[in-house]
Amino acid sequence: MRKFKTESKKLLDLMINSIYTNREIFLRELISNASDAEDKLYFKSLTDSSIQLGKNDLTIRVSFDADARTVTVSDNGLGMDKDGLDANLGVIAHSDSLEFKTAQAANAAGAADEAANAEDDEREESAQVNDVDIIGQFGVGFYSAFMVAKKVRVVTRKYGDEQAWVWESDGVEGYTIEPGEKEGHGTDVILYLKDNTDEESFDTFASEFGLKDLIKRYSNYVRYPIQMMCTKS
Ligand code: ADP
Ligand code: MG
Repeated sequence: MRKFKTESKKLLDLMINSIYTNREIFLRELISNASDAEDKLYFKSLTDSSIQLGKNDLTIRVSFDADARTVTVSDNGLGMDKDGLDANLGVIAHSDSLEFKTAQAANAAGAADEAANAEDDEREESAQVNDVDIIGQFGVGFYSAFMVAKKVRVVTRKYGDEQAWVWESDGVEGYTIEPGEKEGHGTDVILYLKDNTDEESFDTFASEFGLKDLIKRYSNYVRYPIQMMCTKS
């Protein structure tokens, strides 16, 4: 088990305990990472004639398995090797500003909790503004998966490599990286959704319709085709 760096852990705590109420942005973040990975392979292909890409080869796939309660975002982009996984998913880029913003958001949340008598609306609003700042400015996109997932598994194979790698984490203390198998290059990000909660609104995205709705609302601009696959119970 590799441990998350302290600053990553702070941010993860914020994400998981979700003072950030707009959980549904997780899909936009994962799709945008998938799109970035397609871009990376595409740009590489422009200077590397050994990479033969057809016009429609690069696609993103979102799958939902109702029985397993998993959402999977797959791309056939550049993928990551072991070092890439460790560097990119093991730590959120260290930044003084990030520390500052994280501390601010934590303070806002703490202050809001103390002011237990304050209006609920007001409190949510102030926490939300800070969270949006963090997510928007520092690209902590991937970690937003832990707002909806109790476990995240990333199966990835870098273009040109034979070996695939599996990164797995419950988002609490750390993560593991093990050798694995994958057909073709690219990345599958598998979210094991949190158990249903009392909050009625929590699970509305966990359906074919819900996911399609999120894709339409948040990922309309993505330049690669997004396919939707569903396994129904
Ligand atoms: P950002 O996208 O702003 O860099 P993220 O937290 O969303 O931040 O992702 C962190 C890093 O993880 C990315 O920069 C990228 O290197 C790597 N990564 C995430 N998802 C993928 C993916 N599907 N394919 C390849 N690399 C990925
Ligand atoms: Mg991102």
